Amino acid sequence: MSADSFAPTERTRPHRHPERGTYDREVVERTLDEALYCHVGYVVDGTPRVLPTIHVRVGETIYIHGSSASHMLRAIRDGSQVCLVATILDGLVLARSAFNHSMNYRSAVVFGPAREVTDPDEKWMAQKALVDHVCPGRSDQARMPNEKELRQTSILAIPLREASAKARTGPPKDDEEDVLLPVWAGVLPLRTVAGEPIDAPDLPPGIAPPANVRLYRRPTAGS
Ligand SMILES: Cc1cc2nc3c(=O)[nH]c(=O)nc-3n(C[C@H](O)[C@H](O)[C@H](O)COP(=O)(O)OP(=O)(O)OC[C@H]3O[C@@H](n4cnc5c(N)ncnc54)[C@H](O)[C@@H]3O)c2cc1C
Repeated sequence: MSADSFAPTERTRPHRHPERGTYDREVVERTLDEALYCHVGYVVDGTPRVLPTIHVRVGETIYIHGSSASHMLRAIRDGSQVCLVATILDGLVLARSAFNHSMNYRSAVVFGPAREVTDPDEKWMAQKALVDHVCPGRSDQARMPNEKELRQTSILAIPLREASAKARTGPPKDDEEDVLLPVWAGVLPLRTVAGEPIDAPDLPPGIAPPANVRLYRRPTAGS
């Protein structure tokens, strides 16, 4: 059974606003699960690179995938250290002073080595999980990859062993002398909300969007 918290390490210890940080496993996992995509940082020939990509957490492993030709996946699949960041933006914090503007957010940072998934069963499971991370239930609806498509896809696994989470909540924190300024201050909540589904132009008649598309929302705690 995994521990409730990640052990802090040199690279996961926040210096600024450490009170906003946590090593609580549940908080890290919830953030990874709700965030639709992540950013993966890695180093090639001494040059740092960061790319956005889809991820999914399955237990204590995070999977990312892409074309077998992906430069990023090829560069890191041999056990290279990566830094994966998932962010959920909850609101704009608009203070009276520009200096105290901020954002309300929840974010998770994960460090670990990337391993290429070669076991066919694990690859298939991770492929399904990635599809369902984006749209829960979609792997039961879509035609899943055939052998050729699977061969063209690389899946990498990153262990969820070294991680931190951080969050900011609440109103702006203005300096006392600014509070009476005639400037609106507060929080403008922001969230990922689905619009109306748009049929593909070549969709045959009579196929309606299923409930998981019509009622789409990101999974939150308890859902
Ligand atoms: C949407 C968004 C906007 C932000 N805007 C700003 C901004 O404009 N300016 C600014 O200074 N900061 C901003 N932050 C906060 C920023 O991510 C850092 O937390 C902050 O810069 C302080 O870093 P530090 O010096 O403690 O980091 P470091 O000491 O370099 O971090 C050490 C370790 O602490 C952990 N850590 C640090 N930050 C986070 C985090 N956000 N989530 C999870 N783990 C973390 C990581 O494991 C990291 O490796 C923003 C965060 C988010 C999510």
